[in-house]
Amino acid sequence: MPDRSFLNWPFFEDRHRTLAEELDAWCGKNLPVAHDDVDAACRELVAKLGQDGWLKPTALDTESPGPLDVRTLCLTRETLARHDGLADFAFAMQGLGTGALSLFGTPEQQRWLAKTRAGKTISAFALSEPRSGSDVANMEMTATRDGDDYVLSGEKTWISNGGIADLYVVFARTGEAPGAKGLSAFIVPADTKGLTIAERLEVIAPHPLARLSFDNVRVPGSALIGKPGDGFRIAMSVLDVFRSTVGAAALGFARRALDESIKRVAERKLFGAAMGELQMVQGHIADMALDVDAAALLVYRAAWTKDMGAARVTREAAMAKLFATDKAQEVIDKAVQLHGGDGVRKGHIVESLYREIRALRIYEGASDVQKVVIARQVMGAA
Ligand SMILES: Cc1cc2nc3c(=O)[nH]c(=O)nc-3n(C[C@H](O)[C@H](O)[C@H](O)COP(=O)(O)OP(=O)(O)OC[C@H]3O[C@@H](n4cnc5c(N)ncnc54)[C@H](O)[C@@H]3O)c2cc1C
Repeated sequence: MPDRSFLNWPFFEDRHRTLAEELDAWCGKNLPVAHDDVDAACRELVAKLGQDGWLKPTALDTESPGPLDVRTLCLTRETLARHDGLADFAFAMQGLGTGALSLFGTPEQQRWLAKTRAGKTISAFALSEPRSGSDVANMEMTATRDGDDYVLSGEKTWISNGGIADLYVVFARTGEAPGAKGLSAFIVPADTKGLTIAERLEVIAPHPLARLSFDNVRVPGSALIGKPGDGFRIAMSVLDVFRSTVGAAALGFARRALDESIKRVAERKLFGAAMGELQMVQGHIADMALDVDAAALLVYRAAWTKDMGAARVTREAAMAKLFATDKAQEVIDKAVQLHGGDGVRKGHIVESLYREIRALRIYEGASDVQKVVIARQVMGAA
């Protein structure tokens, strides 16, 4: 029986506990879906999650506006990731892709949100470029004012949902000031003339991913999100909400690895007894459980702090993401070890977790970048 004791922690309200239990039951019935065709699988997952109401927390409810509930986002990601990494991805991207609209959109722009929350429209967040991933302020893509319109030119890469998204939130240089202060954010529907999929990218844990080309893509002035020059602040505010949720997904992967390992060492006989009788094996299980609990504490501390009204949770979210993703990698590696040959067998659950976890230490701010963020926050506060 998986450990659910963390749900009793004071970070949560009863509505969170109910959600975690109900979603877990839903996942048991509906996941995993077949992954042979990842585009089709993602479309199916977004539609299914939307139809059954699970995408509602990903974006602002325009009928009853309020802040995004980060604990709900984290609990949902953790639960989905425990069952199916692609389901977590489908959920997460509906939130990340529309975060700028939830936080900074006009009522007209926020009309997209009813469709993304219902799983009828797929969204994407297009920040990274071939020469600016970690170094966002170095972005080269331009958006030039032309009458009432903006004309976007350049490339975006590593864009999750690239190729299947209906809606891209795109960051580009408008040039109000050098570096980070000269960026702006735009809504670009996928069918806008001049926007093409230049390349589909394949990674070790397959999901829809693409390099996008913008060849004089013309959008109306009403596509601008926030004010000209606000793009960097908008991107960072979105990441401030969603960064802890990456930690939550890692936590879900780690919990699954721990659960699978507990089962394995109870069932597998070695040297005439259950493998779990070996003290070195117990040492691994203890380390894994400790890392899972410590990661959960950091993730839900960050989520709770944000939900309690903190303007920014830069330090808490960076700590949660760094620790949870790095430790999940270690936990999953131990799970592979404890499974012996089965651990590296294609199609085995711990083999897929081993591939799933790796990118989380790179995207939405690599682990090294999180260390820089934490050090600056800690030294700045001293
Ligand atoms: C699976 C996947 C999905 C993604 N989805 C999206 C998406 O939906 N939208 C989007 O915009 N982008 C997305 N990305 C891009 C992702 O955010 C970038 O890959 C990431 O920011 C790193 O940028 P880079 O790949 O250009 O590596 P680089 O910026 O070249 O960095 C390489 C490495 O350098 C190190 N490093 C970087 N900065 C520092 C520093 N300050 N100090 C010390 N070391 C440092 C880190 O180890 C880093 O991994 C995705 C990436 C992947 C792999």
